[in-house]
Amino acid sequence: MAKRLSKAEIQRRAIDIRKNDLDLTEFVQLCPYELAREHGIAVHPLDGLTEFGCPEGSVTFYASERPDVWSAALVPAGTGQFIVENTSHLPRRRRFNVAHEMAHVLLEHEFDRVMFSAEGRHGCANPSSKDQEWEAEELGVELLLPLAAAYKAAKERRTDEEVADLFDVSLPVARWRMNGTGARIVAQRAAAKWAKLRSGQ
Ligand SMILES: [Zn+2]
Repeated sequence: MAKRLSKAEIQRRAIDIRKNDLDLTEFVQLCPYELAREHGIAVHPLDGLTEFGCPEGSVTFYASERPDVWSAALVPAGTGQFIVENTSHLPRRRRFNVAHEMAHVLLEHEFDRVMFSAEGRHGCANPSSKDQEWEAEELGVELLLPLAAAYKAAKERRTDEEVADLFDVSLPVARWRMNGTGARIVAQRAAAKWAKLRSGQ
């Protein structure tokens, strides 16, 4: 079994993916749908699935499998995959889950099941491996709101609401990135140090 990637390695990959696939720096908003298109991964809305030749029975399954709970699914199909998204959910939540499922694709995770992104989690409800799930959680959010961007926003004293709007993520995700990663604490310490230096203490 391959060793789990480090956070630093995931941050590096996210920067490379942004730059090479979409020509973006780490300080601007990323569209996960464009990223999927770039990699030839179709993103189908749940209500349009039969048009793509998906059997009626499985459509009913997706719709009935607690539709309030799941917002995106990564479906293995032959040698490839496609994503189904629950279009009844809010756009920011869908963006987050599409980015998460794309992270599994980009990390070339192998899986033997349909994986569902679920409410109250930062990723899949039924991961095939804990390490892979952790990697996809980290890469998915790093693609949407890179740590470097969180540090910059903290330094600029942006509110969680502003950060959410800038990167088109939900408020809980913006909060998680700004506080959970320590971005604000690092920025506050740097500002305090600078103030101390300037006052000649
Ligand atoms: Zn996952």
